[in-house]
Amino acid sequence: MSKDYYSSLGVAKNANQDEIKKAFRKLAHQYHPDKQGGDEKRFKEINEAYQVLSDPQKRQQYDQYGSAYQQGGGGFSWEDAARQGGFNGGGVQFDFGDLGDVFGDMFGFGGSRKGSRRDTRGSDLQVDVEIELKDAIVGMKKELRIPKAVKCEKCSGSGAEPGSKVNTCPTCSGTGQVSTTQRTILGVFQSAAPCSACQATGKKIEKKCKACSGEGRMRKEEKITVSIPAGIDEGQTLRLSGEGEAGAHGAPAGDLYVRIHVRPDKHFVRQRDDVYTDLTISFSQAALGDTAKLITYDGVMEVKIPAAIQTGQLIRLANLGMPHLQKKGRGDLYVRITVSTPKSLSRKQRELFEQLRKEGL
Ligand SMILES: [Zn+2]
Ligand SMILES: [Zn+2]
Repeated sequence: MSKDYYSSLGVAKNANQDEIKKAFRKLAHQYHPDKQGGDEKRFKEINEAYQVLSDPQKRQQYDQYGSAYQQGGGGFSWEDAARQGGFNGGGVQFDFGDLGDVFGDMFGFGGSRKGSRRDTRGSDLQVDVEIELKDAIVGMKKELRIPKAVKCEKCSGSGAEPGSKVNTCPTCSGTGQVSTTQRTILGVFQSAAPCSACQATGKKIEKKCKACSGEGRMRKEEKITVSIPAGIDEGQTLRLSGEGEAGAHGAPAGDLYVRIHVRPDKHFVRQRDDVYTDLTISFSQAALGDTAKLITYDGVMEVKIPAAIQTGQLIRLANLGMPHLQKKGRGDLYVRITVSTPKSLSRKQRELFEQLRKEGL
């Protein structure tokens, strides 16, 4: 059986690549087996012809030996050669680019036709929230106002006017998916595509909801209370499942991501779960040791200063740092000591310092 690929595609023997491509697209649309008036056998022929004619090398070989090969009786055919080539083989390359266009237009893979894309869950949202360090120590609840798509209150997301009829989509029998079988020269491909007739909902709505025009969702500013856990650190993100944008036609909502920013504190610097602060003490406190008052977010603390402490030394107050996030316990609070030199001295103080000097201090 001799095959004439040129007549399969309805192009002249001297047709250029553009003409071949155009002809293939037109015919593939026309004869696609899943289309009304489609013809599987014809579609296969068109595919086969295109695989050969679109490849300059194959085309040349076909031009030269085409009928001879077909009639050679050795069982060789371009069809087999193409099959053996496989997807990535050295044989005939399957041009997904072109087919993608064809299928895209028909089933919405490419999304070129409005509304034919599958309705998936709503989009995720992200907001940035700034808190104080003290809020991060104790944790807090914060109310946010988020403008977003919410499920339509009138139709509860169905997109149907309340009281109106909702039938099963006849195109996909309510499954929301249309399975397609593509017979190509490389074999049979089966794939499920979202039903474009019902936007994958499986339902046929008689009357669209007036409030949302059948979308099943509407924009609204919503109040959301976020629990910010104690110990949260700068840049950490909380995920609020299902608090993102509502999906169309009742599809699940996306998530809301709340990114936390902790405002730098004047007196306390966080490092992981430890906190650092400064305490200035006097010359004699440093020399003799003392107890000093320190204001912390846990209240006023008494800090024991050991004798002979030096500037820059740290005093550790255990368990007064940041709470460990979602774990028991806290980090530590480190008090960095600065010994201050008196800026002015009374007469008596001067005398005492003079005496100290004599003692070698
Ligand atoms: Zn509605
Ligand atoms: Zn459907």
